[in-house]
Amino acid sequence: MTERFTAEELAAGRRLFGGPHAFQLGVSGLEQLPSVSGVEIAFAGRSNVGKSSLINALTGTKDLARASNTPGRTRELNFFAIGNGALTLVDMPGYGYAKASRKDIKQWQALLRAYLRGRPGLKRAFILIDARHGVMAADKEMFDLLDEAAVIYQLVLTKIDKLKLPEIAKVKEATATITGKRPAAFPAIHVTSSELGTGLAELRAEIAKLI
Ligand code: GDP
Repeated sequence: MTERFTAEELAAGRRLFGGPHAFQLGVSGLEQLPSVSGVEIAFAGRSNVGKSSLINALTGTKDLARASNTPGRTRELNFFAIGNGALTLVDMPGYGYAKASRKDIKQWQALLRAYLRGRPGLKRAFILIDARHGVMAADKEMFDLLDEAAVIYQLVLTKIDKLKLPEIAKVKEATATITGKRPAAFPAIHVTSSELGTGLAELRAEIAKLI
């Protein structure tokens, strides 16, 4: 299900993510959203899905995404310039945190809706799914938001080093069944491990194709 990529596409991915990368800004309110310029992609997922680890692994940095996990930044949209500004990567706040208040969730959804509505440069949202858990209710709420905003999204299974091969095949199949029914979901699913580096070259190539 993970697409195959040509040597050129893999090389383009390598180049794009070769750096330099920089944290640009964190946005917690609608009025702070930066104006649109160039191609943007977004990363989203439940808290603890492995989003920071994946962003760091993709960019070959140890702490680029740490900016998103510092106190005060966890409820923000965090903007990163990738490959000398060739691409903007937007790290969305982790969702599905059990202790979040209704007010927090409402605020977060309003910010997200405003962001999704006003980003013509947003080519794709990558939604990370913990391979051990598969798609959960909070993920489906995220899919609803993206379907509603007509933003194309693609799923990325994380932490596959925790599963055995037959289990990976099973979760991929179950995930594809869910996205197959969704209007804005991209059919191919990426399978990754930040720990082992699995699938990173393919995901970089996929992202480079969007530029
Ligand atoms: P975030 O909250 O989505 O940013 O998640 P983090 O990147 O902080 O990761 C959450 C936890 O999952 C940490 O304990 C990581 O070490 C662990 N983790 C992240 N990626 C992987 C992976 O590919 N494999 C394994 N085994 N653990 C991972």
